[in-house]
Amino acid sequence: MKKQTKQYVIRGLLVFGVLGLISVGFARREGISTGAPQDTLLRIKQQKKMIWGVKGDTRLMGLMDIQAGRLTGFEIDLAEAITKKIDPTITVELTQITSGTRIPMLLNGNIDAIIATMSITPERAKVVDFSTPYFNAGQSLMVPEHSPVKTVSDLNQPNARVIGVTGSTSIPNLKKVAPKAQVVGLPDYATALTALKSGQGDALTTDSGILYGMAVNSPGLRITGGNFITDQYGIAVNRDPAKMVTVINAAFRAVKADGTYAQLAEKWFGKVPGMDWKEVLV
Ligand code: GLU
Repeated sequence: MKKQTKQYVIRGLLVFGVLGLISVGFARREGISTGAPQDTLLRIKQQKKMIWGVKGDTRLMGLMDIQAGRLTGFEIDLAEAITKKIDPTITVELTQITSGTRIPMLLNGNIDAIIATMSITPERAKVVDFSTPYFNAGQSLMVPEHSPVKTVSDLNQPNARVIGVTGSTSIPNLKKVAPKAQVVGLPDYATALTALKSGQGDALTTDSGILYGMAVNSPGLRITGGNFITDQYGIAVNRDPAKMVTVINAAFRAVKADGTYAQLAEKWFGKVPGMDWKEVLV
């Protein structure tokens, strides 16, 4: 390398280094995560609270119940039960996420864990640590009552419009099974359901557990075609040196062992028409 070029490179590196230090300092002061691996357990114990990213528009799993004035659902109860097993003195804080925001929010340090209808996939496992599964899921379809659509293959045609939520696995899964269909990605399940109800799509695709929750107050819509994909939900945490995921797994084992897990599944899914609550248990 020429002497002059070398000097430029050294100067460039210095400028980068100084800027980097300034921005880390700024981020620390502002409480913004710098993306460095952190000891989640240590932090939640120090702060005496654990922040869970949960769904707010998914009845049965995580729903903002306006009447109760709080988030309710199987995943909310499970997050509370797991936190209690980790440390009964830690309080639970809930932050609403969507399928598209959950991983970035975890990586940014806005939340400590995700429990939000999130399927365990090899791609996601490259960026987060997944707990052992806590729910058996399967992807299905919801259509208007008088729709001719019976199975997913009826949607494999260029004039079929299928609604999904961006950031979910449901969209790529559908594209694999019905590659000719047009897929419309919307930001969350509340918007997706409204779009289906107002005739803006031939079907909405997501996990059947989510669809059963929607069906509770959606006269004029029905679930069809069975599960054309099956997978499992896991809790996601940041990969950290102290292995938060092993702490979550141990707490979940304890929640199962004392019967709480089965009780919660029966509480939330036991009376849902068409749903066999025992099938979702792991
Ligand atoms: N389980 C699927 C997923 O992890 C769909 C549900 C969701 O969007 O959260 O993407």
